Amino acid sequence: MVGVFLCLEDSNMSKDTDQNPKLGIATQLIRGGTNRSRFKETSEAIFMNSGFVYDSAEEAAGRFKGENEGFIYSRYANPTVNMFEERIRLLEGAENVRSTSSGMAAVNGALMSFLKTGDHVVAPKALFGSCLYIIETILPRFGIDITLVDGTDNTQWEQAIRKETAAVFLETPSNPTLEIVDIETVASLAHAVDAKVIVDNVFATPILQKPLELGADIIVYSATKHIDGQGRSLGGVILGKEDFIEEVVAPYLKHTGPALSPFNAWTLLKGLETLDLRVQKAVDNAEQVADFLAGNKAVKRVLYPGRSDHPQYDLARKQMKRGSSLVAFELNGSQQETFAFLNKLSVIDISNNLGDSKSLITHPTTTTHSSVSDELKAELGISESLVRLSVGLEDSDDLVRDLDGALG
Ligand SMILES: *Cc1c(COP(=O)(O)O)cnc(C)c1O
Repeated sequence: MVGVFLCLEDSNMSKDTDQNPKLGIATQLIRGGTNRSRFKETSEAIFMNSGFVYDSAEEAAGRFKGENEGFIYSRYANPTVNMFEERIRLLEGAENVRSTSSGMAAVNGALMSFLKTGDHVVAPKALFGSCLYIIETILPRFGIDITLVDGTDNTQWEQAIRKETAAVFLETPSNPTLEIVDIETVASLAHAVDAKVIVDNVFATPILQKPLELGADIIVYSATKHIDGQGRSLGGVILGKEDFIEEVVAPYLKHTGPALSPFNAWTLLKGLETLDLRVQKAVDNAEQVADFLAGNKAVKRVLYPGRSDHPQYDLARKQMKRGSSLVAFELNGSQQETFAFLNKLSVIDISNNLGDSKSLITHPTTTTHSSVSDELKAELGISESLVRLSVGLEDSDDLVRDLDGALG
């Protein structure tokens, strides 16, 4: 269980929510983790403080010995940060959670908190650029062996996982081509050698995919994306089993210091209140946009896990509730023509970010994936006419009209 609430009243709220499985997602997202201070504020307070005081030297000594409950320092824990952590923990149904200052701090913490020299890690080649950097460049420096596989090919996972394998790390749907990794199959292969399964669930969001129910041990999020979803704050989350989070992840984060700011925790906490509404609306829009694109002559192919022409549609339906707010598509044309299309858009913004209320479009090969080798780009299908669209919350008719005008 997360945190300590000595100075706060109403501290049973999170426990009540935990014990009452009848509460729906919307209720949990609005009320889960709330801890009111003695002022009884409606909306959660921002505890914008680094430190805490003690009534006596004895109390301070007791706090450090763990004999009395309470906060010590905001690098370790903070009331607003705890409320955010508790709300997302309830949403995922995880035993425990810690938050971080960014998604990459969460990915780094989930891996570096337990890996050691001699370990082996397996991951798909189709990974978010900075995740690939940690796995491909940083881990080998510490004598950790890595194998990169085609994440869609279960045989490659089976061949790569061996007795030294300590972790598998995967993203599904993947960035930017929205490939699906079979979480259940990969988890059973990994568990046969006692490897931990870490799923970066950013593209699916906690609304559309529940990796823990599919056998994952650890979920990481960039909360910067759909959880904030309004372009305001960076943040990250690591969720998993009680002992792993409490004994392995928490000390690593506490002593290395990627703490989430209380202000950012508050924006993320407020973001969670509308997460279900926003994700459902973005997916409604994405479905319409994907169908429009699939019927347009200027479009060579659409990659959308919610459409039956996605190469892994059956797997997507099995492990995801809906097809995600991201749509990838390839144009019939050159890079120059693809740039001309992007430049003609007037509602949709050109940006490398995703999961925002504003629709954002990316040309991966020249931006997010510009450091990936040409061979790997070819293998991953990242061509010069591939674009990734993060569908936002605007009126879908306006998005379709904008795309139609720019394609014409
Ligand atoms: C954005 C992103 C990250 C990194 O998150 P930051 O908050 O930017 O540090 C990691 N994984 C995926 C899939 C992402 O989209």
